[in-house]
Amino acid sequence: MKIALIAHDKKKDAMIELAIKYKDTLKDHDLYATGTTGTLVMGETGLKIKRMKSGPLGGDQQIGSMVAEGKLDLIIFLRDPLTSQPHEPDVSALLRLCDVQSIPLATNVKSGEIMLEAVKNGVIK
Ligand code: PGA
Repeated sequence: MKIALIAHDKKKDAMIELAIKYKDTLKDHDLYATGTTGTLVMGETGLKIKRMKSGPLGGDQQIGSMVAEGKLDLIIFLRDPLTSQPHEPDVSALLRLCDVQSIPLATNVKSGEIMLEAVKNGVIK
């Protein structure tokens, strides 16, 4: 599967924890991430990840463009609901495209875990 990982700044530690927990599952898939998230997760896990630009610099839009082209199967986007983001329009656009294309999207740790369990157990392919 092609899986994208994105985390807002206050959620980056949670994303790293999630990636460490599911490293054995994630390593068997093609991974994509926004710039800073990808750098941090790669550094902490050794997973190979194709990095886009940083989110505020267009990374969310690059991920969105992949969704529009049917090039992603699942997205884990750990959003920070308590901090305003300069690139909020890009965030909303990405979420919208996931709904347009019916792409599974987890926006918090628990839902991310459920999705990665499903990937691990072959429930979604
Ligand atoms: P980042 O982008 O991984 O480059 O920090 C994430 C975002 O803010 O959308």
